[in-house]
Amino acid sequence: MSNTFNPYDNYLEVMERAAKMLGLAPNDYVALKQPERELKVSVPVEMDDGRIQVFEGYRVQHSSSRGPCKGGLRYHQDVNIDEVKALAAWMSLKCAVVNIPYGGGKGAVKVDPSKLSVHELKNLTRRYTAMILPLIGPERDIPAPDVGTNAEVMGWIMDTYSMFMGYTVPGIVTGKPLDIGGSLGRREATGRGVMFVVREYLHRKGIPMIGTRVAVQGMGNVGGTAAQLLSNEGCRIVAASDVSGGLYNPKGLKISEIVAHLSTRGNKLSDFEQAGAKHITNEELLACDTDILLPAALENQITAQNAAKIKASIIVEGANGPTTAEADAILEQMGKKVVPDVLANAGGVVVSYFEWVQNIQSLMWDEEEINRNLEKIMIRAFNEVWEATTSHDTTMRMGAYMVAIGRITKAKKIRGVFP
Ligand code: NAD
Repeated sequence: MSNTFNPYDNYLEVMERAAKMLGLAPNDYVALKQPERELKVSVPVEMDDGRIQVFEGYRVQHSSSRGPCKGGLRYHQDVNIDEVKALAAWMSLKCAVVNIPYGGGKGAVKVDPSKLSVHELKNLTRRYTAMILPLIGPERDIPAPDVGTNAEVMGWIMDTYSMFMGYTVPGIVTGKPLDIGGSLGRREATGRGVMFVVREYLHRKGIPMIGTRVAVQGMGNVGGTAAQLLSNEGCRIVAASDVSGGLYNPKGLKISEIVAHLSTRGNKLSDFEQAGAKHITNEELLACDTDILLPAALENQITAQNAAKIKASIIVEGANGPTTAEADAILEQMGKKVVPDVLANAGGVVVSYFEWVQNIQSLMWDEEEINRNLEKIMIRAFNEVWEATTSHDTTMRMGAYMVAIGRITKAKKIRGVFP
């Protein structure tokens, strides 16, 4: 599905509604309506066949009021500046929801990484890093993986930045390989956070995890890990998909087999068969018979066109911005409950924060400590969002936005407007 909606308009609409619900004056939140900085770069790369190809890239810093900007780097052929601006703004909110000392940023390059050789991707990453160098740094803006990038790409960024500085700077990126300062538990952190949030939500509603049916759109880092961990906790994963399509089995899919198949670069779900499972489209997955729908692919997947077809009563947003504002209103009218992205997928940035703290202190935590601290922060954030939601008798999205905007505007007020 293409991005026919502007996700930045989506952010603005919800942010303004939450600010008004909090009783804020326009002066309190006017600065949140646009990013602090936007950098557009044209990145030349010498391709393997000798051609020079120029890729468009961006780095956007939405807010640094609560700390350095933090946010992933996306490689995708359809990215545009409005998407990057929205993703950066959502990072400001997410870091505030989980109360870690960061603002929000995001970067992207308009490229289909599957079409580039490893050598070309490495050169693209190094040149892009050099071109956004004036903005980034462990105290300024710290990239991390997102769609289309991974630990290997973060390693190239870390090395490039370090070469410019003349010494090794592990804290410049998070989500790095373990051998160069990455953190245990980072790769699984977003999916693990999703699992904690699902567990807390079901607990509040008195629904047992065992047997609860889940459909996962996008079996990548977030969706694949969440599916595996939810399945370990007794949930029945009835549907799972990637960009090529999905599989459906009302009795439950064997998730380990699917994750193992997709772990090989180039493998797709459309090539995979499992006894009892039938192939479905991504549209069919969104409308399938399930208790929980977990969109974990891209933004703008649940729209005014398909929202009314959703059978799941709970939607947990593993992806950033998977629901358009129009679709959100339809879901609310239908009595569906949405656990919003800025809470549901915040586990990744929480462990990124742990990674950065370890890098700065030159310390290494064990995995148990990381997972325990992640769980503590996710439960605390869930409870705070729940409290804001119930006390204002609103949706969890509004509850989360109110928690976040309350914190960011408070920081802004304390700091004042320079000069
Ligand atoms: P990924 O690249 O590892 O996986 C994306 C998955 O979505 C893949 O399975 C891909 O095949 C599938 N997909 C892509 N386009 C699709 C489409 N049109 N329809 C159905 N499936 C499609 O990416 P990821 O890191 O898992 O990120 C997924 C989402 O989660 C993104 O919105 C990202 O911003 C968000 N997120 C990621 C992290 C993180 O730590 N990786 C943290 C927070 C939020």
